[in-house]
Amino acid sequence: MGQLHILFLPMMAHGHMIPTLDMAKLFTSKGLKTTIISTPAFADPIEKAQNSGFINIGLKIIKFPPKQSDLPDHIMSLDQATSNDLLPKFFKALSLLQEPVDKLIQEIYPNCLISDMFLPWTVNSAAKFGIPRLVFHGISYLSLCSIEQMRRFKPFNNVSSDSEQFVLPDLPHELKFVRTQVAKYLLEENKMTDFMERVRDADLRSYGVVVNSFYEMEHDYADYYKNVLGRKAWNIGPLLLCNNRGDKVERGKKSSIDAHECLTWLDSKKPNSVVYMCFGSMVNFTQSQLHEIANGLEISSHDFIWVVRKSENEEFLPKGFLERTKGRGLIIRGWAPQVSILDHAAIGAFVTHCGWNSILEGVCAGVPMVTWPLFAEQFFNEKLVTEVLRIGVSVGNKMWQRVANEGVDREAVAKAVEIVMVGELASEMRNRVKCYKEMARKAVEEGGSSYNDLSALIEDLSAYSPSRNNVVQD
Ligand code: UDP
Repeated sequence: MGQLHILFLPMMAHGHMIPTLDMAKLFTSKGLKTTIISTPAFADPIEKAQNSGFINIGLKIIKFPPKQSDLPDHIMSLDQATSNDLLPKFFKALSLLQEPVDKLIQEIYPNCLISDMFLPWTVNSAAKFGIPRLVFHGISYLSLCSIEQMRRFKPFNNVSSDSEQFVLPDLPHELKFVRTQVAKYLLEENKMTDFMERVRDADLRSYGVVVNSFYEMEHDYADYYKNVLGRKAWNIGPLLLCNNRGDKVERGKKSSIDAHECLTWLDSKKPNSVVYMCFGSMVNFTQSQLHEIANGLEISSHDFIWVVRKSENEEFLPKGFLERTKGRGLIIRGWAPQVSILDHAAIGAFVTHCGWNSILEGVCAGVPMVTWPLFAEQFFNEKLVTEVLRIGVSVGNKMWQRVANEGVDREAVAKAVEIVMVGELASEMRNRVKCYKEMARKAVEEGGSSYNDLSALIEDLSAYSPSRNNVVQD
């Protein structure tokens, strides 16, 4: 049998493109041929990887057809996504890519399509050409299971107020939530509810799911997903570990700070003494919330690196903050070399919005976390970190926020930082997360759980391959 060719179709957002590129690198390193489809706006990191000369990944650029002129071709921020129902419009725009994608499949004729969950129509594209579709959600097993149980049992209907807790039934742990931590489309019918039903339906009609996680960290939920919910899945992560040092420096976008400068600054600090705070690629805070964060960092008295989006208001710092924290802090406006920072021995804690890539990066660096979930499946990830793995503490945010509004005050920020930085609890969490770091490394090494799952998947795909001769042409 010839070389297997995998075609990747990611969603146009950094949190989805970054692990997809890692996944393509991983499959390439196993001797498979890989091609990523991207729109021009997200092609840059793939071209960079190609130009590095180390890895041979194909890139096919497709453009939105002109008829999408009133629809957005990518989402830049959380505020933008939640204003004017932009998200359903964006997904509609993405569905217009079906025609160019189908043409590409016909031209390339890959053995398998790995599609982002948010592109449910690709299940028809794959079927049309007789190739298996694998789904990539880019989230944890715990989240996959929790979303399904929220949809199935609607436990939020059993409480009479937003502050009353309910238990998500039938899962390996007793996970409690309040209604304000649940996505709106689950709480009530809206345009997103219909869309997410299509996503689920496409999942069920697919060959299976690839998960960016490793068995040792989420074994209860991996088993539950496969054995109780009956889904076919392969855990092949943490995907970021397929990168060598050089590739880790810049992920997604060009850093707004010279990585060397940043690491030299960290070299001057003691081990485990610096707090790293970053809220991913989409979050914008209000000015008053930014002031509370700044004041929280100031009260906590630890050194810090704080990443603040470029689009954030110029007045985001309280008066005199820079003078008062001189020498103690580094503020990065824009994009940080996150993985390199987290890997530095001086980093003692990671304040994170609980995006799944960020959580994995924290685990692989062995850094305990302060969890500050804001949207998507982040409240589920928080439970994994704080209650299941016990490698972090919550800052206490309860609001699934349309925009990152006020909600967490300076005392809460300082208190949570203190708990993960100093004292007995902090060293327990640090020891535990270091164990998970070690398990992650072993999982991707020869004979490890993710290594074996990936080998099994490649074997399955090789065996599937001949059936693509049964092409249904239209
Ligand atoms: N990231 C980065 N620098 C930044 C912000 C984010 O390198 O300043 C990377 C981060 O390392 C992670 C990804 O962008 O790989 C963000 O993904 P995540 O799932 O954590 O959050 P999202 O942006 O999807 O909300």
